Amino acid sequence: MINFTVGPVQSSDAVRAIGAEQVPYFRTAEFSELMFENERLVKKFAKASDDSRVVFITGSGSAGMETAIMNTLTPADKAIVVNGGSFGHRFVELCELHNVPFSEIKLAPGKALKAEHLAEYEGKGYTTFIVNKHETSTGVHYDMQLISDFCKRNNLFLIVDCISTFLADPFDMQSLGADIMITGSQKALACPPGIAVMVLSSKALKRVETVKCCCQYLDLKIALKNAERGQTPWTPAVSILRQINARLKEIDANGGVEAEIARTAALAKYFRERIKGLPFEIVSESLSNAVTPLHPTTASANDIFLKIKDEYGMWICPNGGEMKETVFRVGHIGALTTADYDKLIDAFKDLQKKGFI
Ligand SMILES: *Cc1c(COP(=O)(O)O)cnc(C)c1O
Repeated sequence: MINFTVGPVQSSDAVRAIGAEQVPYFRTAEFSELMFENERLVKKFAKASDDSRVVFITGSGSAGMETAIMNTLTPADKAIVVNGGSFGHRFVELCELHNVPFSEIKLAPGKALKAEHLAEYEGKGYTTFIVNKHETSTGVHYDMQLISDFCKRNNLFLIVDCISTFLADPFDMQSLGADIMITGSQKALACPPGIAVMVLSSKALKRVETVKCCCQYLDLKIALKNAERGQTPWTPAVSILRQINARLKEIDANGGVEAEIARTAALAKYFRERIKGLPFEIVSESLSNAVTPLHPTTASANDIFLKIKDEYGMWICPNGGEMKETVFRVGHIGALTTADYDKLIDAFKDLQKKGFI
């Protein structure tokens, strides 16, 4: 199978080989060193300030989202949540669950966030802005400069879910003034699912000190205390942390985050060029390099997903909910090559020849 989904994605041979090894004991100086190296490289690639800190939580990306809300926000906050799809909706639900007052900016599928959406929230006493930089469900990549300027003008605490865009699109945590950035191991990090990575600015660290977290497992005070010595409070997904280490070093050795973003952008461009002539429409106003969301004009999106899986041995990414029949997505993250895309294009062309699309 070739995997063109947006997570879990394909891993490099070096990352996969680690998955076959015995899991080492981890309360050791050697594992602490590996964790410090992970922290250093994540900060480097996120362009985080020197005084920011990194936490690795065992759980999928959503654990990072909930950890951020539970450890830095309270009922005294007033948040703005961008809700452009199922991941934005998850933040809405988290604010409801944890009693964080909020207003939501609801965007229709495929629509970009514009200055006019923000205008009515200017100077209205909000404290926090929460956004999924890339709303993966619809493939919309938001304008972070617009959001950053708004947050700086209004002195807002900025939480950014970068789960599918970290290492796929540019992100400069320090210059944007982002306070929390979250990513997950199974997106562009191209490791198995199981680790959420969070970078916390000094402002976020101050909030963590004062907010009472009502979940021991996800309490950042405890995680940060342990991270001082390169450890985690509870047994982490040790193998995945070792795989993340191999992957971060692989990116560093191959030219760093800019080279990795350029590689992903080139794959996205190659695919988008090659689908011209097929009965698909790109349905996002603002694309990330991570994924191309497509509306097939002549067949059901879910039927195409099933055909490609069952008859051609490849996974494209189906959409859920209301978009199940109308949109599928093709990812560009993970260990993929142009030759892989050639096989996918051949499959689409074959379906077209057979009159299926
Ligand atoms: C994948 C993803 C998540 C997290 O999903 P998990 O299944 O919990 O890993 C959150 N936000 C965005 C934007 C994502 O792409």
